Amino acid sequence: MAIISVQSPTAELQALDAAHHMHPFTHGSELAQKGARVITRADGVWLNDSDGNRILDAMAGLWCVNIGYGRRELAQAAARQMEELPYYNTFFQTTHVPAIALSKKLSDLAPEGFNQVFFAGSGSEANDTNLRLVRTYWAAKGQPERNIVISRWNAYHGSSVGSGSLGGMKGMHMQGGLPIPDIHHIDQPNWWAEGDDMTPEEFGLERARQLEAKIEELGPDRVAAFIAEPIQGAGGVIVPPDSYWPEVQRIVDKYGILLIADEVICGFGRTGNWFGSQTVNIRPHVMTIAKGLSSGYQPIGGSLVCDEVAEVVAGVEFNHGYTYSGHPVACAVALENLRILDEEGIVTRVREETGPYLKEKFESLTDHPLVGEAKIVGMMGSIALTPDKDSRAAFASDPGTVGFICRERCFSNNLIMRHVGDRMIISPPLVIDREEIDILIDRAWQSLDETHVRLKDEGLMKAKAAA
Ligand SMILES: *Cc1c(COP(=O)(O)O)cnc(C)c1O
Repeated sequence: MAIISVQSPTAELQALDAAHHMHPFTHGSELAQKGARVITRADGVWLNDSDGNRILDAMAGLWCVNIGYGRRELAQAAARQMEELPYYNTFFQTTHVPAIALSKKLSDLAPEGFNQVFFAGSGSEANDTNLRLVRTYWAAKGQPERNIVISRWNAYHGSSVGSGSLGGMKGMHMQGGLPIPDIHHIDQPNWWAEGDDMTPEEFGLERARQLEAKIEELGPDRVAAFIAEPIQGAGGVIVPPDSYWPEVQRIVDKYGILLIADEVICGFGRTGNWFGSQTVNIRPHVMTIAKGLSSGYQPIGGSLVCDEVAEVVAGVEFNHGYTYSGHPVACAVALENLRILDEEGIVTRVREETGPYLKEKFESLTDHPLVGEAKIVGMMGSIALTPDKDSRAAFASDPGTVGFICRERCFSNNLIMRHVGDRMIISPPLVIDREEIDILIDRAWQSLDETHVRLKDEGLMKAKAAA
């Protein structure tokens, strides 16, 4: 058998992949039929595939490669750490320098009152930690019956049993017996799809007040926490109306429940600030971090915990942890990533220069006949595809049919945009420059044109009948 390498023919790699590799969130036999795209190398915002295409990655991998691909400093930090201390755990009263240095750096970057970090290997693990952390907090305060966590439909908090239950993806709940008990969901603030005749501001208040109604329904002394992404990512980059978060904050304060901000996507510059909580102006007690923490160069996640919660939990033995909590190589790489984001002013540049430039260009996509709304904060954005802008109609075809066609058109134009239902989303590396933004928008426009032609040819430009 020949050596498997990036020089191997694409068909051979695809056949081996189909024979041996089970993909996440994928219909296995359909992909095996078609063959997976093989990515071979990357630099900056650009990917290369095994057929020699050069592709603009407007998703930063899975929302994570904030500093862009190919930064040698991170590879060198990993190599140095592997030689010095490739692994040691942080159980049993031990620690090591990378975990110390990263937790100190995170405390410096986080909003005031956040001085403690619990490390995990991913965002899913970190949210599992959070579920146990907030329940442990209330139990330690003598209120063990306060164990319910409220979340939102169409939220994404990870794919483990705990974090998948916290999330509100119905397709995930359908498989494997989710959600686990004592997790309840309210509706999401997606005005475009669900706002009916309300103004966005009225709708934002209505959706926030579902939290209050749910707390009253369940009993205020039963609710431990509310978890939410400052801006929903995997749900389709849903930017809530301005009225939403202030009202949620009022309700959280009124009932004294904990607020968990899932910053896995929003954190580390994505919204133009270090944390999405700063952008939407909320005061969480716990923040979930992962993805941009290491720009995806190493798997690492964690929970930033406010002083009040950290102090109470420190009063008991927390029977929880992962073999790779605070993995030294992952910590060293994350630390180098944060140094670069900080010292090169990348977050500030997103807020003040490239973010506003991208926003202007991205919003101009609403001039396209297929595009209803365009929403973007910092460097996470989405467009809603529609057969009729005025009525905000959905397509008559199954949700996602049109989005999938558009995603395939983007692929063929060497642009990676994802679709969530019939919304198209972007989340490019934060280092994307103006010239690359222009290319992104040109390719998006071209792909929308091709999608439009195809929809007309196939009779898919039909609106779904109003419910
Ligand atoms: C990706 C994501 C997670 C899960 O992180 P993993 O590292 O994939 O486990 C959790 N929350 C949000 C908001 C995410 O986008």
